[in-house]
Amino acid sequence: GSTIGVLGGGQLGRMLALAGRNMGYRFVTLEPGADSPCGQVADRQIQASYGDVDAARELARVSDVITYEFENVDAAVTKLLTQEAHVPQGSALLYTTQHRLREKRAIEAAGVRVAPYAEITSEEDLRAAVGKFGTPCVLKTATGGYDGKGQWVIRSADEIPDAFAELSRAGTDLVLEQFIRFEKEISVIAARSPRGEVKAFPAAENIHVENILHMSIVPARISASVQEEAERLAIRIAESMKAVGLIAVEMFLTKDGELFVNELAPRPHNSGHYTMEACLTSQFEQHVRAVCNLPLGPTELLTPVVMVNVLGEHMEPLLKWFCSEESEASDSGVTPKLHLYGKDEAKTKRKMGHINLLTSDTAKAAEWMERTGIWDSIS
Ligand code: ATP
Ligand code: MG
Ligand code: MG
Repeated sequence: GSTIGVLGGGQLGRMLALAGRNMGYRFVTLEPGADSPCGQVADRQIQASYGDVDAARELARVSDVITYEFENVDAAVTKLLTQEAHVPQGSALLYTTQHRLREKRAIEAAGVRVAPYAEITSEEDLRAAVGKFGTPCVLKTATGGYDGKGQWVIRSADEIPDAFAELSRAGTDLVLEQFIRFEKEISVIAARSPRGEVKAFPAAENIHVENILHMSIVPARISASVQEEAERLAIRIAESMKAVGLIAVEMFLTKDGELFVNELAPRPHNSGHYTMEACLTSQFEQHVRAVCNLPLGPTELLTPVVMVNVLGEHMEPLLKWFCSEESEASDSGVTPKLHLYGKDEAKTKRKMGHINLLTSDTAKAAEWMERTGIWDSIS
């Protein structure tokens, strides 16, 4: 059998390995944390920091194919791996998506719209750009941000000095974006294989709470034409960037039906976890197929679904509810599929797992979540 090496040992790597093992592949992960979510299910974990060149060389030695489950892979390691190992995703896609300005230019080059933006290198730049876009607008670090970290929503010009000082401390480039008054946030995950086959999964409607994805609703509650347009845009981006493997495309939908791309992720995405039970092929199986240059699997939706993330603070009430007589007795019209990532410490806001609620009725999923007493209802 072939061995797939994975840079990163989090839950995305874990679910990738679980899917790939069913297909006969072996997995080795490079990850500094002991007993990592991916290390628990992989054949082997090389425990070292992501920037450790010797460890990367060892991963290259034992792997037939190398992929990554997070995008902030060290540049020196990426270079080494592309020279000494088979990395079908290459390094260009990583290089582009590691930096918001490069990413926006690549999206525009694909003929797809992003929110109006400006590169910011000084407080004067920022003042001029805020004047142009108006308030609110969003200042972001170009690299390293996630879960809304490295962002400042500027609500009035008075905040300019503080916002600039605070985000400059990270020492990276900055970008200012016009604020898009979106009606919904959606995402489409596309896969492309080296032979050029491309397929998109159905669009997910994403609801964030405090900048962390809370739930995804599929089918998204949008018109068929917007759904098709969103899938077309994702496919166009995947083709234009010659992506290999998965590429997740986050978008804003305005009330006029316009779509703007927010950002990309060149890997499995939290908003694609619904595919595990709800689609003919999961995003993880699709990624393995793509990086191994197998034919891509069909992406049809088998059942409507609501994916809800389980954070640290949800663990206790959730497990209590699952063990209760109420959960056994209830005929809720919802089939909950629980996925936990094998993390010990249930810290607040930490992603511990997710639940795919299979149901033909989104209202029933909302009821189910309310009954467990730990989630906000669907707005
Ligand atoms: P992720 O965890 O998805 O990687 P991130 O830290 O990279 O998040 P973004 O996706 O850029 O951050 O932004 C987080 C959220 O902030 C978005 O999902 C959206 O709700 C809001 N947001 C970001 N940019 C804008 C914008 N230009 N206009 C309106 N809302 C925005
Ligand atoms: Mg991001
Ligand atoms: Mg995002």
